[in-house]
Amino acid sequence: MKRIIHQMEPWIGKEEEQEVLKVLRSGWITEAEATKKFENEIAKFVGSRYASVVTNGTVSLAIGLWALGVGAGDEVIVPDFTMVATPNSVVMTGAKPVFVDIEKETLCLNISDVEKKITSRTRVVMPVALNGRAPDMDRLVRLCRKKNIQLLEDAAQAFGSTWKNQWLGTFGEIGSYSFSTPKVITTGQGGALVTNDKKLYEKIIRIKDFGRLNRNTQDHDAIGYNFKFTDILAAVGIAQMKKLSNRLKRKKELFAVYQKELEGIKGIQFLATDLSQVSPWFIDILVDDPKALQSYLRLEGIGSREFYPAIHTTEPYRHFGVFPNSRWASDHGLWLPSSSFLTDSDIMTVCSLIRNYYER
Ligand SMILES: *Cc1c(COP(=O)(O)O)cnc(C)c1O
Repeated sequence: MKRIIHQMEPWIGKEEEQEVLKVLRSGWITEAEATKKFENEIAKFVGSRYASVVTNGTVSLAIGLWALGVGAGDEVIVPDFTMVATPNSVVMTGAKPVFVDIEKETLCLNISDVEKKITSRTRVVMPVALNGRAPDMDRLVRLCRKKNIQLLEDAAQAFGSTWKNQWLGTFGEIGSYSFSTPKVITTGQGGALVTNDKKLYEKIIRIKDFGRLNRNTQDHDAIGYNFKFTDILAAVGIAQMKKLSNRLKRKKELFAVYQKELEGIKGIQFLATDLSQVSPWFIDILVDDPKALQSYLRLEGIGSREFYPAIHTTEPYRHFGVFPNSRWASDHGLWLPSSSFLTDSDIMTVCSLIRNYYER
């Protein structure tokens, strides 16, 4: 039987099993010691003062916005090309997402467009480090400072990627990561917020735990909900953190092998990617007709995934404007098999099939 190569598979092993067993055997499975340990490791990894883990990376964005004081009547600037969780998290807070187009070079928001869309209601700019790439963060930070607007990074796809040697997620007031199944490391579901600001951190804690700062009290001095983690998931996270550095390195290698193997094929475009900074979460290419290539690969047992729809073409956001670069990315992008356990020979198999497709 032909081996199926999925576009993405989680990679869970004995280490996760052992960590989870430890938690189960302790009898305490809600958010406690293992969660604290996972949070400390995240904070330490990105060099942030505080980290807080929550149920998922969509909720973590909404919590970040709430902590920054965003609510009804406010505007939050987001790119039109992203996973739909980005604008939906804005809607969740009652604020209005304001879309900007992306730059073709990075697939990240266009900063000149951000500048044009700022109004007196703009409270936050939420850039998305799509596939580990980032726009000119110096320029974005400068713009936000100048206009007195807060910066919340959706770094769901960029845990472990840097821009000018600084971890993505640490440029603004708050950074948000996701640990859903396809992300660099996974806990099945999960998200994290990082910040250097004690006040913001305490707001985050209150929002995720019924409005109290201290678990052992009934002192609910703010409105809060329940977005807490569990130690079972944290146990998986602790084991995954041990694999993070190798995985980031392997993702870079995968990208380089793909690039080399597909070199010179007319009709395939790679984005210029600085692998000293970017650890691509997925292997992304731009082609004339991604649907056709996807169907061909599917018949060969190879999984791939089309890029996200441009947000303004989805039903809930249909009337929001015109975004040519976002549309271009969405119409031409394809994600190739990207699991970090793939071997070079797996990739060569995929690439020679793609070469056959283009050169037949
Ligand atoms: C995955 C992802 C999210 C949402 O994270 P979940 O943990 O799946 O809720 C948000 N933004 C971006 C850019 C993502 O890739």
